[in-house]
Amino acid sequence: MVISSNSMTNTIARRSFLAGSVLAGVHRLFAAPQTPQTAGLADPKLIEDLVAGYRILAQQGVLDGFGHVSARHNRAAERFIMSRSLAPELVTATDLIEFDFDGNAVDAKGRSLYSERFIHAEIYRVRPDVRAVVHNHAASVVPFGVTTVPLRPMYHMAAFIGNGVPVFDIRKSFGMTDMLISDSKKGRALAEALGNKAAVLMRGHGVAVVGSTIPIAVGRSIYLDLNAKIQAQAIALGGNITYLDPQEAQKMMDGGENRAYERPWELWKAKAMAK
Ligand SMILES: [Zn+2]
Repeated sequence: MVISSNSMTNTIARRSFLAGSVLAGVHRLFAAPQTPQTAGLADPKLIEDLVAGYRILAQQGVLDGFGHVSARHNRAAERFIMSRSLAPELVTATDLIEFDFDGNAVDAKGRSLYSERFIHAEIYRVRPDVRAVVHNHAASVVPFGVTTVPLRPMYHMAAFIGNGVPVFDIRKSFGMTDMLISDSKKGRALAEALGNKAAVLMRGHGVAVVGSTIPIAVGRSIYLDLNAKIQAQAIALGGNITYLDPQEAQKMMDGGENRAYERPWELWKAKAMAK
């Protein structure tokens, strides 16, 4: 923790003023909201892809007026970037803000922030392999978080869920809440439920999807939505369902998951940014 000489002087002065109430001064020093220093300008390509991520997911119907995408900062592993509180389809580069893992904004400039930024912060904290996170409320996935029917891979495009999609039930750890992941503690519990998987369903809420790049996190969000729709259709048809075998899913992943979504990414991006 960096303490400026100014704040140190102030703290010492405060401690003296409190005439012996040293503990109160220390408490205040550590409890005060921090404004972190910036890690510097992010790679312009990262910024471009992050803006595209918001718009693509809105265009694909995965995000509506809610939900968000973030990326780990390319210059600092302990920072991430996401939009100010804004409908995803409207996000531009000027709306992006840098955050630390406690959810503090580097320079919010008075703008309102997504209350659920702690989803992203706590996942980045425990998953060094993750460089992009999507949180969405796609209607197709919600049924699999509120029933005993597990979300399973229906086809090769969703092989990334071959080892399962856990369900996080906020009620189990936090009792009756407003359902939102609005602080670090709740974010930590969600990240724990995610474990080493590609996605975690949030009971009665939505899903968090992760990836090692923005195109992978965005691509997975799109195919998770499609897979959920296909699975519901297959269940509605009746009869036995043959899901991808975990070994088939693993072979698909070993071969390079959907070629890292490079081909559709260019198409999705071109369409989303042309608007
Ligand atoms: Zn949400």
